[in-house]
Amino acid sequence: QFITFEGPDGAGKTSVLEAVVPILREMSSKEIVVTREPGGNPISEKIRQVILDVANTAMDDRTEALLYAAARRQHIVEKIQPALAADQIVICDRFVDSSIAYQGAGRSIGETAVAQMNLFATDGLTPDLTLYLDVPSEVGIARIKQHRQTQYDRLDQEKLAFHQKVRQAYLKLAQAEPKRIQTIDATASFEAVVAQCLAVLKQHYPS
Ligand code: C5P
Ligand code: MG
Repeated sequence: QFITFEGPDGAGKTSVLEAVVPILREMSSKEIVVTREPGGNPISEKIRQVILDVANTAMDDRTEALLYAAARRQHIVEKIQPALAADQIVICDRFVDSSIAYQGAGRSIGETAVAQMNLFATDGLTPDLTLYLDVPSEVGIARIKQHRQTQYDRLDQEKLAFHQKVRQAYLKLAQAEPKRIQTIDATASFEAVVAQCLAVLKQHYPS
């Protein structure tokens, strides 16, 4: 199974994943591979550095989208597909939905264009289940300012409107694919969000 975690900045994906995975490992007899985008292997981590480097403010929006897709491609080939082929569970922090939301909507390239371009990168690989941690942009931004030192990402340069476009795109995706994308209310307490995620995962994978 291929499971992804999605959400705007400050939704708490990374910390929630860190709490959920050990519990899943106890519950499941299958090997669980946890990985993240952009990154997950040396080539993709290098591409990540290029994308997220604040010095690269001249980066064109489509260049950025192509680099995300390139990093994704390498990640799939090197890590995700081999694990799935070995019947392991792959849990990935971000995937194509992030590109549709951030590059497609946030940077206004167009959600359809970004989705189509990513088909080339993924060759059709789609998550079986996506946990979308939903949080209003104001809440997400406030959390980031409080909890994270953003050294390299472009968050500070991005205005509230950008994050609102990202969230609206996520909500639209969740509405279009309610079976694959399960929405979690990430404004709840950390413990409650972890519990909601576990409930969804148990419901989909009872054993
Ligand atoms: O997953 P994480 O929150 O660590 O992502 C790092 C940064 O990359 C975030 O600031 C996010 O906004 C950005 N990002 C992006 N487009 C993507 C994936 C991530 O702009 N497709
Ligand atoms: Mg994170």
